[in-house]
Amino acid sequence: MPNMCQTKTPIPEQDPNVRNKNFDEVAQGYTVEMAQNEAARCLNCKNHPCVTGCPVNIQIPDFIAQIVKGDFEEAYRIITKSSSLPAVCGRVCPQESQCESKCVRGIKGESVGIGRLERFVADYHMNNNTAPAEKPESNGHRVAVIGSGPSGLTCAGTLAKKGYEVTVFEAFHTAGGVLMYGIPEFRLPKSIVQKEIAGLKELGVDIRTNMVMGKVMSIDELFEDGYEAVFIGTGAGLPNFMGMEGEGLLGVYSANEFLTRINLMKAYKDEYDTPIIRPKNVAVVGGGNVAMDAARSALRLGAEHVYIVYRRSEEEMPARNEEIHHAKEEGVDFRLLRNPVKVLGDENGRVVGLECVEMELGEPDASGRRRPVAKEGSNFVLDVDAVIIAIGNAPNPLIRSTTPGLEANKKGCIVVNEETMQTTKEAVYAGGDAVTGAATVIKAMGAGRQAAESIDEYLKNK
Ligand code: FAD
Ligand code: SF4
Ligand code: SF4
Repeated sequence: MPNMCQTKTPIPEQDPNVRNKNFDEVAQGYTVEMAQNEAARCLNCKNHPCVTGCPVNIQIPDFIAQIVKGDFEEAYRIITKSSSLPAVCGRVCPQESQCESKCVRGIKGESVGIGRLERFVADYHMNNNTAPAEKPESNGHRVAVIGSGPSGLTCAGTLAKKGYEVTVFEAFHTAGGVLMYGIPEFRLPKSIVQKEIAGLKELGVDIRTNMVMGKVMSIDELFEDGYEAVFIGTGAGLPNFMGMEGEGLLGVYSANEFLTRINLMKAYKDEYDTPIIRPKNVAVVGGGNVAMDAARSALRLGAEHVYIVYRRSEEEMPARNEEIHHAKEEGVDFRLLRNPVKVLGDENGRVVGLECVEMELGEPDASGRRRPVAKEGSNFVLDVDAVIIAIGNAPNPLIRSTTPGLEANKKGCIVVNEETMQTTKEAVYAGGDAVTGAATVIKAMGAGRQAAESIDEYLKNK
């Protein structure tokens, strides 16, 4: 008999007033009993609409049925036929607009907690299965992957399972891309990402860090070195700025820099020597996941007051509902329909305030969202000593400017054939944020897998 409870089985979480002072994971995960209780809410629908909402088409009802049976390893096997990073996606996928948005249980109540169940299965496997992955026999072909974010890692893993000799070249000193340096520890523990990466190494993937490709080596030089195909998964790590007065002052950060210093360089730990000003009052500009992460990290760094300054209303905020909810619970102060116009500084060039203007929503713009318009004479100042800009990122131009024959569009995104992920240069494929601009983990993974299949086809027929 299915469990007809209309709400999801609650997931244990740290208390908001405790967690806003530490970097430990907010949600603690289901126990076996909780997972089976939630799995029993699934109706095992014949036409499984939830699967169509998942960008990599995980066979959701099948893996959930295995949880009900208690065969968690079989559930893991089903998930990993389609996704190579289930512990990550179960935590950070925007499920509410993907798989869970299509779940029939969501019509009268809450959808099945698909993401929570995926996380449970992946964590169960990690904690209980210590057997190393079997390294497939080599087929003798070498492929280079540039970038070790979810797109690069998925491409590398898919090819390694088929017997390719894959080398991943990563610019940073640690592999994992945004999973390591962007998404904070309290949403995605770094040990989980590292375990997923260890699994790829067991498959034979060679990961070389501190390799800024385009500087250390060009794509053409990779071919000269014997690689037969290249995948570019370099993401979109170039932060956008507002172009307002005062953005060069001391205390203005891009969210990328702020989060990288905290996540990758452990600025929150006293024993790590990473220069970062610990601000008291912080304004974060933007309304996406990155803005929520920066605001919640600033609180954990010890800030007394953290504002989100966003020019539209909450309805238009691109951040996940869960992130907005968690940020509010933790005490972030949302200043909506407000837009910054100038960063104010003192005689030493340090931030002392952010001048903003009130906004109102006008007619819809090209994105379909109502265009915010400034209210004349409504200027006011927020007293802050740090301003974090989180208004989006663009792909870094290094690879495209050092690779003849590689075309990019006006936004700097690499142009690909959407079926094959092949770029305008032979044997060079690309995917993830480098192609789409800032998007999601699961979309980057889907692109990495699609590119790996195309590379396999190409090399088999070469
Ligand atoms: P990335 O993850 O950006 O990885 C690219 C890698 O390439 C990096 O490691 C980079 O160092 C490396 N690289 C770049 N240039 C070179 C070079 N020249 N040579 C060698 N290596 C290079 N998505 C979600 O689904 N859910 C979320 O909750 C979520 N939260 C986010 C929070 C933050 C703070 C940020 C920044 C993003 C978030 N995203 C989220 C988006 C998601 O993380 C990205 O869409 C995804 O990581 C893109 O994967 P990717 O492989 O294309 O690139
Ligand atoms: Fe849902 Fe993401 Fe899992 Fe797909 S990968 S089933 S979208 S949580
Ligand atoms: Fe289960 Fe919901 Fe998918 Fe139906 S739509 S199979 S209830 S998860």
